[in-house]
Amino acid sequence: KIFPLQHLLSTVAQRMDTRETAAPPPRSPEGRAERLHRIGIYRFIALALLPTVCLLALVYWYVDDNLQEIKTAAESTNQVHLPGILKNQRTLINIESLRRYVETVYNASDAEIRRDALVNALALATESVFEANSRFVEYATSAKSLLYALDAVKKRSDRAQEELARAARLFVQTEARLGVYAGEDRHEAMPAEDDARVSERVLAYCGKLRAAPGTLPQALAQCVTLRESRQAMEKARQRHSDADTEARELWKQFDQLLRKLSDLASSKEAEATHWAMEYISKSARRTHFVFYLSGVLIVLIFCVFILVLHRYILSPLTLASRSLRRIRDGGRVENLPPVRVRELQDMLNILPVVSRHVTDLSARSGLLEQEKDRFRNLSLVDGLTGAGNRRHFDACLARSGRDRPLALLMLDVDMFKLYNDAYGHLAGDSALIAVARTMLEELRGSVDQAFRYGGEEFCALLPGVSAAEALAVGERLRKRIQNLRIPHQSSSVAPHLTASIGVALREAGSPMSNQELTEYADKALYRAKTSGRNQVCFYTPAASSLPGETAL
Ligand code: GH3
Ligand code: MG
Ligand code: MG
Repeated sequence: KIFPLQHLLSTVAQRMDTRETAAPPPRSPEGRAERLHRIGIYRFIALALLPTVCLLALVYWYVDDNLQEIKTAAESTNQVHLPGILKNQRTLINIESLRRYVETVYNASDAEIRRDALVNALALATESVFEANSRFVEYATSAKSLLYALDAVKKRSDRAQEELARAARLFVQTEARLGVYAGEDRHEAMPAEDDARVSERVLAYCGKLRAAPGTLPQALAQCVTLRESRQAMEKARQRHSDADTEARELWKQFDQLLRKLSDLASSKEAEATHWAMEYISKSARRTHFVFYLSGVLIVLIFCVFILVLHRYILSPLTLASRSLRRIRDGGRVENLPPVRVRELQDMLNILPVVSRHVTDLSARSGLLEQEKDRFRNLSLVDGLTGAGNRRHFDACLARSGRDRPLALLMLDVDMFKLYNDAYGHLAGDSALIAVARTMLEELRGSVDQAFRYGGEEFCALLPGVSAAEALAVGERLRKRIQNLRIPHQSSSVAPHLTASIGVALREAGSPMSNQELTEYADKALYRAKTSGRNQVCFYTPAASSLPGETAL
């Protein structure tokens, strides 16, 4: 593709010199090597923008992927885990009820209450608490066997308690009977007294009775009973204590089991929700980071792009623009430094050619201007005398304004035919040249102008003068011509060349036409001729009198 500017430049170059532009540009080996590294402007811009596009695509893909994952995690939390947590809440309430029932089984002393609690606990463990989950079923089976075991232990404890109570009653009754038989030294067991100390004391008393002579056999028999009941009490106490210990152990196991159940019910979904939230948070942080990182990268890429754009496109364009300005101002542009972009290089290659052509053209147009000026001057100047020619006179008269006075002097060399006849035409020409030079010297340069009207007649335009001033000029002119002392033996006026001058004036703002002014000057000249020549006459139509008319 060709750029408009490049096209324009190549067209200009072609028009200037078809041979030069038609020829391929000279290719040096270095130039060819450089050309290999050049790329088109569109490919250049595409390559420069490619990183940005790739980065944007990558960021879009990554952010989109992350957002999709966040959305999935949030949806699964909302639709799966949160309902699961709500459901587990009910399970946890049931587990707590189960704990209370088992606690009653463990603590209550009333067998009736314990039985009710056991039934409720078994019902909960069997029906409602446990879900269709293998771990739950496993824990439920353990719970039920623990419940049964606890119940059995509690029953054993109850029986030991009853046996202890029976033995204690027998002990007390025996002790009382022993007191009856002994009649004295009977010690009442104090309620606050320790069982062991009571039995020690009572057994010590029995020992004394056996040792004492004359002790009744009934009393000794009571002592045997006393010892047996005491042993029964100790055994029952031991069994009760063992049962309590076992029950406590079972309660601990049950407590641990219930804790596991609670954990199982609550932790699974909560853990899933926790992990989902953790994942969402991590993804959001990652996306946030990637977003800012991509922003920084895009800004960096943009800066690099601007730098590259400046170096490879804007800088050559500035160079081209500067060179074009230099060409416009008439300066020369030599070979410009190479650039990377092919189209710009082509344009820069053309600029020196354009510069050469423009320089050539301006040189040629300068010559043309000079020629034109010369021809213009020639067309306005009389070839023989150097004074303005008739065309110039007509043009100046036509251009003259009416805002100020204008005097027209008309000069005719006297008896010039005779001069030619006497001295020849070449001498006549020289005389005419001398008269013209005198006129040009006498007049005021650029203000007053002298023209050759035709043949041996001359005229002058004096703007801004009065009639007296015009007559004075005419008079000075006449005298200077006479003072040239060009010999003219054939003249009847004087022995040297003379001239007659007619003067007419158009006042400022006067309606007098150019033709009338010329006519009046001619009339004044005619008067000077008819009045004897070698004199200055003035003519005005209002009064044919001739103010300041002079004659030699
Ligand atoms: P008058 O005093 O009445 O003006 O007489 P005159 O002889 O000057 O007038 P006339 O018109 O009879 O003659 C003008 C002469 O001027 C005729 C011609 O040979 C001569 N003449 C005109 N142009 C030129 C010129 O360019 N060179 C020369 N050498 N002579 C010229
Ligand atoms: Mg004449
Ligand atoms: Mg004449």
